[in-house]
This record gives sequence, C-alpha cells and structure tokens, in this order.
Amino acid sequence: MTDDLCAHDAYLTTCDATVAEVRDDGIVLDRTVFYARGGGQPGDMGALRWDGGSCVIVDTVKSRDDGETLHVPGPGADLPAVDSALTAEIDWDRRHLHMRTHTALHALSGVVFTGWGAKVTGGNMDSSGTARMDFELDGITQEFGREVEERLNTRLAEDVPVHVSFLPRDEAFVDPDLIRTKVSLIPDHVDPIRVIDIEGIDKQADGGTHVRSTSEVGRVRVVKTESKGKANKRMRIALETR
Ligand SMILES: [Zn+2]
Repeated sequence: MTDDLCAHDAYLTTCDATVAEVRDDGIVLDRTVFYARGGGQPGDMGALRWDGGSCVIVDTVKSRDDGETLHVPGPGADLPAVDSALTAEIDWDRRHLHMRTHTALHALSGVVFTGWGAKVTGGNMDSSGTARMDFELDGITQEFGREVEERLNTRLAEDVPVHVSFLPRDEAFVDPDLIRTKVSLIPDHVDPIRVIDIEGIDKQADGGTHVRSTSEVGRVRVVKTESKGKANKRMRIALETR
C-alpha cells in the first residue's frame, strides 16, 4: 500500500515518490502527500513532475477495489512511466482551507455535544471554506445558531492544540469519547486507529487532515440552520477569510 504521509504530517506539501502502477482510473505511488477523498473531506489536487514531463492531478480517491490511493490525472494529461521517479506536489492553499474547515467541524461537534448533548448524524465540506453538519436535535432556531457560533469562536480563539495519535484498537474501543463518536463502525482490519484530539473540545477517530491549533482555523460563521427531518437538524458554517 502507498505510504500515506499526510496521516502523520498534514503540513507536507511535496514529496519524492516512485510510480507503482498506472491504472485506467489513476496513478498509484509508493508514497504520497496527497489526501484521498474521505470522511467528508475532498481529495487533493496538485501535480506530478518528472524528468521531461508533468501532469495535473484533479482529484485523489481511494480505489473501490483495493483501497489504494489513486491520483486522478486531468483529461489528456501525459502519464509517468511505471517505476519512474517523480515529485508529487499538492495545491497547498486549497488543502490548507480543507484542514481549517475540517478542524472547525470537529470543534463544532464538540461544542454542540458539550452544550446540548446532541450527537452528529452527518457532515460534509466543500473546497470554498463552507461545510455542513447534521445533529440529533429535536429543533433548531437562528438564535441557537448564534449561540453555537459564539461559543465555537470563543473556544477556537483559545488557541487549543490539535493532536494526532494512533491508538491500538482495543484501547480506542474503551475510550468514552471515541465510543460516543461511533468508533465501533470502523472496519475490523483498521488497527491502530487514528485519533484527532482537539484538547478538551472534541476527540474522535478520523482519517482527515487538520491544522495544528484552533487559532489557525480563524473565525467561523453559522450561516444557516435548517431542519432535515425529525431529530435531524442541519447547520451550515463558513470560515471567515483571513
Ligand atoms: Zn473528521
């Protein structure tokens, strides 16, 4: 399997790699800094460059067949040769926005759970600094949205560190925070389990890329609150530009 460098260091923008396979649906490398779409976070874009050539990568996804990371080239792009050496580079501005947005969503889920005891039922983010999260709430109002926004921004401004760790599966399964966020749904073969801990705000098993501390997220606005059915209420958030 591809050595997934961003799982350990989300701030790597480039790496040297060797082409393992060139498939119809994407290029497989021995190691990569590209994040493959998953957990509500979009896949990375960027470029692969080698001696005498390059290709643009328009998306990164996990193969449905074997879970391998596929770098999806733009239509008609030149393709590198198998076993050749190249440099992989992500579109960092786009990725960093995903990191800020993803950390904002985790902090939001922690603030809503701490304040109102409501669990998350779903969530998703896009590439323009906006995202949605659904909660197990009976009702939702604009006032509630404003209250959440205020508490969320207070916590983010405290510059709380965000830790990435890898927990053995049996330890993860007895952690109350991880149980609450449904660690039990993670497939059996995943061990250790990657954990994102925003100290004192939110802790959950997660494969995404996050910023190092909450101040890097900046301010977040709750731009919409809406009902998506009984016990399913949605909040839309937008990161303020910095
Ligand atoms: Zn996440």
